[in-house]
Amino acid sequence: MNLKTTLLVTNALSILLFFIFLFISYIRMFLSSEVLVLLTFITLLAGAISFVTHLLLINPLLKAVKGVSSEAKRIAEGEFDVEVRETGPKEIQELAKNFNTMSSRVKEMIDDVKESERLKTELIANVSHDLRTPVASIRSHVEALIDQILTDEKTREQYLSTIKQESVKLSELLEEVLQLSQLERGSVPFHPERTKVDELLVSVLSSFERMAEKKGIEFVVQIDEREDSILIVPQQIHRVLSNLIENAIRYSNNGRTITIIVEDSGRATIFRVTDEGEGIPFEEQKNIFDRFYRVEKSRNQAYGGSGLGLAICKEFVTLHGGEIGVKSVKGWGSEFWFTIPKE
Ligand code: ADP
Repeated sequence: MNLKTTLLVTNALSILLFFIFLFISYIRMFLSSEVLVLLTFITLLAGAISFVTHLLLINPLLKAVKGVSSEAKRIAEGEFDVEVRETGPKEIQELAKNFNTMSSRVKEMIDDVKESERLKTELIANVSHDLRTPVASIRSHVEALIDQILTDEKTREQYLSTIKQESVKLSELLEEVLQLSQLERGSVPFHPERTKVDELLVSVLSSFERMAEKKGIEFVVQIDEREDSILIVPQQIHRVLSNLIENAIRYSNNGRTITIIVEDSGRATIFRVTDEGEGIPFEEQKNIFDRFYRVEKSRNQAYGGSGLGLAICKEFVTLHGGEIGVKSVKGWGSEFWFTIPKE
């Protein structure tokens, strides 16, 4: 029996019982037959009105229940973009409200799963694409060496050096992919320790001395004296700074200055790496922290970038509870900043 029939039968039964009791009472009152007929007629009319009113009142309830049920059916069929109108009696409105909350949570979860599937597919496609070029280059150079078509020693050396460069690129790319996937899986340990800011910067900058010297680039460093030591995982923030400084050198013309500032904002320590390089177009700035995103693919491949560096920086900074961002004007330079909270 469906809900409507159950409710109507229940109502009809209660009216019938009511009639029986009233009728027995009328007979016991020894009323004249006219009065008895009149009272019976009035009672029957009242019963009919009660039945119709009941029918009209349960209609919105049935409509609301049907609404929830048909939307639940759509979810069962794999459609998650559903919403039930919150109408009808209070309890049904509450049911519709809870149903809507549940369906939007389910939709969020499904969207997350779809997004992570999409990212996984994209990651595999990008990695395969980026691996193909160095692998093809190594293969053709090795084949030339094996076939002994190279007669002079100088060309052979050039070929060997290309193979070495391409294998370094390969292992760097693989290391970055591995690092990023560990970070995204949350399997990178986080054990912060008090670290001297000046020592950290000296260690980072010394590894870029030769690269900067080659391009005649000068470093300017300013450290707020209140920022003597900070609580970080040194290797991770070393990696962030190295990436930002390497990019600053890579995307700057010869003879420019790169400024590294460490300042105190009260609740956090702010690191700023500013260059006078080519800058990043405004519309690209929101995307550069996405993995494999490169502003101009051909230009960046020439520089040897994988497009993973800033994605890794973002993960490390987030792991420290901080934020990372960029301010840049095309043709004027860029300022990359990140924060490390003090608490
Ligand atoms: P890559 O290893 O390719 O440099 P990143 O993730 O480090 O990858 O950088 C992503 C993109 O941001 C690159 O396409 C690069 O063009 C741009 N970019 C990063 N830093 C700078 C900078 N200092 N100046 C100009 N462009 C930059």
